[in-house]
Amino acid sequence: MKILRYRRSDGILDYACQTSGGEWFELVGNIFESPTIGRAIAKAIDPVAPIDPSVIIGIAHNYRRHIQECGGEIPEWPVFFIKLPGALNHPGMPICLPVSSHKVDYEGELAVIIGREGKNIPVEHALDYVFGYTCANDISARDWQREWGGGQFCRGKSFDGFCPLGPVIVTADELQNPQALDLTTRLNGQVVQKSSTADMLFSVAELIAFLSHETTLKAGTVILTGTPSGVGMASKPPRFLQNGDIIEVELSEIGTLINTVSSAD
Ligand code: MG
Repeated sequence: MKILRYRRSDGILDYACQTSGGEWFELVGNIFESPTIGRAIAKAIDPVAPIDPSVIIGIAHNYRRHIQECGGEIPEWPVFFIKLPGALNHPGMPICLPVSSHKVDYEGELAVIIGREGKNIPVEHALDYVFGYTCANDISARDWQREWGGGQFCRGKSFDGFCPLGPVIVTADELQNPQALDLTTRLNGQVVQKSSTADMLFSVAELIAFLSHETTLKAGTVILTGTPSGVGMASKPPRFLQNGDIIEVELSEIGTLINTVSSAD
């Protein structure tokens, strides 16, 4: 099932789901607790980010060629960081460049949404805890992340609007193999990242097992599973996001997350 969240005419955020016939219907109740399908939605609806994450966990260095382009070493375990929930951004909305950074970069990624609470989750059962999948752009201010103050990793990842998500969630029952998706990022129409989630060093199941080690993952946790090679920082010469850019993250079986870039003013 495909699920999206949208703003009703009265301003309230609501969920809708798409049937196999392509029509959209209201989704009634908590999406994590067996919601029911309601009335058909006749009007075209514009999606907002499909969830308010309880936490956003980012995985660094999960694609071999991205590690090489960054000059890093292959990690023994997944390396993770936190993006603050205020970084959440919506499909179609601008990514505003912070005044304090001149090196804002894109990272197209598969995002995993945890649907039920778990701790010490065995890898063989890890996908049972996944509610669904969506597209993410792990926007990163490279100067804050890597250069200033010894590397202010969370700051560089957490500015307002630095985590566009969407446009839809494809539920785990429909997308059973998250390691077989084509991932493409386009900057102003030009392909800059092209990979498969099969190339992840640590699979979605392995990431969930690792992250839940003596640590409770709550429903609503969003895991950004890492980015493949082709980030702007590593292009020659480096190419960072500029006012007016259009950045797209496409995942096969899910959809395309599109945002514009806007300078602060
Ligand atoms: Mg990332």
